[in-house]
Amino acid sequence: MTSVDSKFAELDELLKKKTIRSREDPRDKSSAEKKITSGLKTIPVLPEIKDESDEKTLTTFWRNLRSFYRSAQGGGIKGSQLFPALLSDYRDMMHVRYDYPVWVPDEAGLAENDAAVLSLTELLNNALKTFAPSAQDAKILKDNIGRLELIVRESIDARAASVVFTDVMWPALQKLETQLKIKGQDGKTFSEDIQKLKSQLPQSGQLLHFSHESPYWLLSAAIRVQFHRSYQKVKEDTVVLRNKLDELLRIENQKTPAANAPETLKGSYGYGASFINFDKFSNVIPESSSEMMMPQRLTRIEKIVTILRNIDSYFKYDSVAVIAENLSGSIAGNWSDLLAHSSILIADKRIISSEAQNAFEMHMKSMSEWLSAFRIARLEVEGKYIPDIHDAYFSNFDWRAFTEDEMALCPPVLLITPVEELIMHNLTEFSRLLASHKPIKTIVIKSDAEIIHSAKSMAQDYFSFPQELGALAVSHRNAYVFQSTTIHPKGLYEGYMKGISGFSPALFYILSPRDESGRNTYVWAGAALESRAFPEFTYDQRRGVQWGSRFNVEKNPQTDQDWPIYELSFITKRDQKSVINVPFSFADFASQDVFFAEHFFDVPPQYWSDDLVLFADYLKMEPTEAYSKIPFVWMVDQQNMLHKVATTHFLVLYGQERLDFWHFIQEFGGINSYHVDRAVEKARQMLLEEKTKEIAGLNEAHNTEIEQVKQSTAREAMEKLSAILLELDSLEVKPAVKISAAVAVTEPVTQKTAEPQAPEAVEEEEPVSTEPWLDTIRCTSCNECINVNPNLFKYNGSKQAYIADAKSGTYAQLVKAAEKCPAKCIHPGIPLNADEEGLDDLIKRAAAFN
Ligand code: SF4
Repeated sequence: MTSVDSKFAELDELLKKKTIRSREDPRDKSSAEKKITSGLKTIPVLPEIKDESDEKTLTTFWRNLRSFYRSAQGGGIKGSQLFPALLSDYRDMMHVRYDYPVWVPDEAGLAENDAAVLSLTELLNNALKTFAPSAQDAKILKDNIGRLELIVRESIDARAASVVFTDVMWPALQKLETQLKIKGQDGKTFSEDIQKLKSQLPQSGQLLHFSHESPYWLLSAAIRVQFHRSYQKVKEDTVVLRNKLDELLRIENQKTPAANAPETLKGSYGYGASFINFDKFSNVIPESSSEMMMPQRLTRIEKIVTILRNIDSYFKYDSVAVIAENLSGSIAGNWSDLLAHSSILIADKRIISSEAQNAFEMHMKSMSEWLSAFRIARLEVEGKYIPDIHDAYFSNFDWRAFTEDEMALCPPVLLITPVEELIMHNLTEFSRLLASHKPIKTIVIKSDAEIIHSAKSMAQDYFSFPQELGALAVSHRNAYVFQSTTIHPKGLYEGYMKGISGFSPALFYILSPRDESGRNTYVWAGAALESRAFPEFTYDQRRGVQWGSRFNVEKNPQTDQDWPIYELSFITKRDQKSVINVPFSFADFASQDVFFAEHFFDVPPQYWSDDLVLFADYLKMEPTEAYSKIPFVWMVDQQNMLHKVATTHFLVLYGQERLDFWHFIQEFGGINSYHVDRAVEKARQMLLEEKTKEIAGLNEAHNTEIEQVKQSTAREAMEKLSAILLELDSLEVKPAVKISAAVAVTEPVTQKTAEPQAPEAVEEEEPVSTEPWLDTIRCTSCNECINVNPNLFKYNGSKQAYIADAKSGTYAQLVKAAEKCPAKCIHPGIPLNADEEGLDDLIKRAAAFN
């Protein structure tokens, strides 16, 4: 069984078991298409924790672990044995559908395909859509498109970074047909569909494999497309202008006496000349009545026509590339293959920035000559060339006078250099280059080796911060800065396209690992992005005057979080499934790298305790809290068993530094911005103060009103009650159990009195409520009345008190509650129980509240 066959078998098995799983990055729409067909058959398993260690062994182990944390001595893991748990799906990339290989057009492909960069998946899907739009069309082919991709991937894996598309695709289609061996009518249909697919796929172009060189190949594609588009346009415009100028010169030529000479006429009539007597004809042709063109103008037009005619010599190259000499070994082939149609200058790494500036000046001199000719040509054709103005203007014409569109026409000047060289030997020159505002486009590829170099410097120099080239370039304010990784080829291509033309200097700072230590470089680069080890951002000063408007950090995962958080599913030994949220931190990224191996310690399950804290959580702890803890990350082994792997203090410091840089990037993008948060808090405080003042004013007015009402009501009530009491006293009447208003007051009088009372005296009395009542609307919910008798007083739905059942309490409780009520909203009325003790005193006390 071949390797491909065995992959098919695995793939079929996986498809049958429907183990297709996906991890979708919410910010990256393209990743929604990346269905991950894991090569692993099970989800991670949590080991059973057996408490077998005695106290002494446990103490010794933890003492050693804490010592490891501080000293980085005594640890170490083997990358091949343990893998970050959150990346377990990516251990076998052959089964993962991702954006590589990617198709890019060559010269011929530019004309036949609008899209400039397409993943293999997109390319195949687009082609299928054209001839098999419905689900049932080309069903067998569609069902096996993943298989076809696998064959293509297998066949380009061992090759160079770039291969000719048809060299790989046509044999792959043939191989698919052979592998499937479909017979009968289905086989015939399948073969026809293969041919249709073939006719819809590009007939040229290249397939780029994911490699360290991918950023260069994508740069080359971007330049090719950019140049093709601008050159086609400028060439068409030039031909039109040149024809018009030629016509001007021809007409001018006809104005000369020599134009009417017999020999000149004879020469211009060709075959017809044998029928004409040119001596006589010359005599009868009138001399031109127009004025002759000024000699200076004639010379000027002849000169620009010559320049325009030579357009190909001015636009001979797609770009001018100045490349550091020590980069030659970093690519498999030659720069002239990679940057075909570019003028390439290999320069000494120590003077590369100044070499790029020299190359730029020379290139711009040539472009100024051509563009001034182009502009003069236009003015001449329109009759708008004014020597007094334009002679001086064009004699000093240089690149600074170009328009944005004209600059975009010019093949760019590229500076390609390694990051360490730039930082160590050329930083001042590079800074000068950016400050000069010359639109030189610098391409710096950072590999895993440079990340390790930074880590080593950090380790040696316990605690130097890495120099962030992207951030340094941003500080110049005028440069287009694009920091990205090579895992998103389309994003990379678009970033190039935005920055490669135009007036701004540009820095393309791209992370692209090498496959040197056997690590999975695609996963490594993706993890660098996820873990904030190398965050992506774009700074484009053309996007706005306000600083914040120039930044875009959206390509990073979960931009509002410190670390992106993903679900980690696992099963326990007892087959119970569980899911936990796990942040993907810098330590998870570092755990893949052999350089950091000694900073990890695999803690056996019997020693797991609450003192092992997730790395991301550990970083948030106060030192006093973190003191006794050890940070760890989740990893899985070859059997998919989960491990808690402790880290060192060095990694904690490194993680804190990366987090700090991430916060810096976040703030650039307006996320968790200190200033925004402060402004929001200030606005909130102002609003709160305003509302507090408003409420205080309302309360004051309300209290004044209450006081006024209370005083007048109390006075009136007192007067009325006194009058009633005096009257009752004289009649020896006991209070009624329940009396309603005026009627209740008058009835006993009529019963007990022999002589009727003067009706007018009763009619003059204001009706007084003698029932207890509570002005609920004024209640402040202070609980005082409820505390006196919770059955008598209760709260309504708005937590304001009311008298729930007057019979469930005594008159004494009513009076007591009225006295305690701060809102003075309880009115005891008159006693319901005439036999209650101490009524005389209570009625007097109640008078103030009735
Ligand atoms: S004592 Fe007055 S203010 Fe307090 S809860 Fe009772 S009714 Fe409301």
